[in-house]
Amino acid sequence: MKKISPLVMKFGGSSVANVDRIKNVASIIIEQKRVFKYVVVVVSAPGDTTDDLIEKANQITQNPDKRELDMLLATGEQMSIALLSMAIKEIGHDSISLTGPQAGIYADEIHTKAKIIDIDTKRIKKYLKQDKVVIVAGFQGINPNEDITTLGRGGSDLTAIALAAKLKSPICEIYTDVDGVFTTDPRVVPEAKKIDYLTYEEMLEMAGTGAQVMMARSIEVAKKYNVKLEIKSSLTRKSGTIVYK
Ligand code: ADP
Ligand code: ASP
Ligand code: MG
Repeated sequence: MKKISPLVMKFGGSSVANVDRIKNVASIIIEQKRVFKYVVVVVSAPGDTTDDLIEKANQITQNPDKRELDMLLATGEQMSIALLSMAIKEIGHDSISLTGPQAGIYADEIHTKAKIIDIDTKRIKKYLKQDKVVIVAGFQGINPNEDITTLGRGGSDLTAIALAAKLKSPICEIYTDVDGVFTTDPRVVPEAKKIDYLTYEEMLEMAGTGAQVMMARSIEVAKKYNVKLEIKSSLTRKSGTIVYK
């Protein structure tokens, strides 16, 4: 049987912050589906949703139970997957949204910063074969107690890279609200320059010294499994920063 190696695309919270941005993301996905045929999409919670949920929990208790906190935080990504799937169907393509557990993402028991142990891609592949765009909630998995766990802040990057590794995606596209990785935060320093290519080591160093454009732990996974990355904007459609080797 023909091997399925889908393109894995990840859209951060800034890219799905409102309805117009969700529609914009749907059109980018369909453009890429025309090129790659099979597409798996990972999305984050819209805008500041995760911060707002943490704030709400803190208004109830300064020490929220971590299992309950994970239950709460996982709802953010669930909003994004459902709305994005509706937007894709609305422009005439088939799609399906899956939570982390439904997508077969198995994680360890450490609530709020779990590690991915394994991914069972059976269900994802089944839907790809049915010509559906598969939309997976980032930042979450299921632990051995069958409870939902989250993967740490910025964890959607980890979901995307782990899926790209497992599904042998030719490249993992990370869409955000800036044109790529810059010499320093372009929102703080307007003269910052976009970098065209980075090695995993260079990217790790930048993530480790505060460039929150990507979760540091996800870069380690990319390096381990040799997943090529492109960090780019969902708003300008320019070519981004390639991270490889
Ligand atoms: P997303 O919602 O797509 O996950 P994040 O807010 O996590 O986006 O990361 C993107 C932000 O990272 C940018 O808006 C930018 O302000 C910030 N940032 C910090 N340092 C850098 C850097 N060196 N290069 C690019 N962006 C950076
Ligand atoms: N929504 C989660 C966070 O804000 C995960 C992510 O955006 O990658 O940390
Ligand atoms: Mg992020």
